[in-house]
Amino acid sequence: MKYVGAHVSAAGGVENAVINAKKIGADGFALFTKNQRQWFAKPLSEKNIAKFKEYMEEHNFTPDAVLPHDSYLINLGHPEEEKREKSLKSFIDEAKRVESLGLKYLNFHPGSHLKKISEEECLDLISESVNKAISETESCIFVIETTAGQGSNLGYKFEHLAYIIDKIKDKERIGVCIDTAHIFAAGYDIRTKEAYEKTMRKFDEIVGFKYLKGMHINDSKAKFASRVDRHHSLGKGEIGIDAFKFIMQDKRIDNIPLILETIDPDIWAEEIKLLKSFENV
Ligand SMILES: [Zn+2]
Ligand SMILES: [Zn+2]
Repeated sequence: MKYVGAHVSAAGGVENAVINAKKIGADGFALFTKNQRQWFAKPLSEKNIAKFKEYMEEHNFTPDAVLPHDSYLINLGHPEEEKREKSLKSFIDEAKRVESLGLKYLNFHPGSHLKKISEEECLDLISESVNKAISETESCIFVIETTAGQGSNLGYKFEHLAYIIDKIKDKERIGVCIDTAHIFAAGYDIRTKEAYEKTMRKFDEIVGFKYLKGMHINDSKAKFASRVDRHHSLGKGEIGIDAFKFIMQDKRIDNIPLILETIDPDIWAEEIKLLKSFENV
């Protein structure tokens, strides 16, 4: 079973994300638990939390089908201590929100060195930040997302994820999320069956499927290996539709949320239907 869904809006209250996911026929979803362009927000109210849990149950969504995303402002590898501390504080707050909603995961982008420190130094800072977040929270599993490697963003090589995981003390609390548009732009081809298998074999050898807790299912406007992050609707970009068939037929990626972050929310319901139709071909 695959949990296919999209990154839905939580405007007007987190509980609305559940309803928005239901509306498009999703069995999983992603959401921001607060405004993603703000550092901090007031705590979730008891009422919002209760409603969220009630809707989750009513519409048969399970916590392992939901992949909350953290704020875009957070940089756990920021070269300046003060800014890194602010990021960590915000990150811990996000993890606590996730826990209060009865959810399991927090999806994040590793961080950026801003050309002020080396990649390795930045990865060390990220690992240190995640270890701190783990020690200050109860159960949240921190899910590192692969990136396109735009600017000075790390996470564009599977080795970056493996490096961070290696430094995490509690391996039960760390996972990864493959974003198809990002890995493609980072230089991992998935357009043909052969290319897909080669990329996934590499992922398994370097990171390991046991750490895969979710995927972002996006086509790419940006060209192969361009290191540019531009999503597109499925089949309309440079990746093409076949890659998404390979994913839907890949048993190694069962039981995790597969989240659309494609550019046209009006066709998410169709895209979900299309993906599900690939499952049993
Ligand atoms: Zn992301
Ligand atoms: Zn993504």
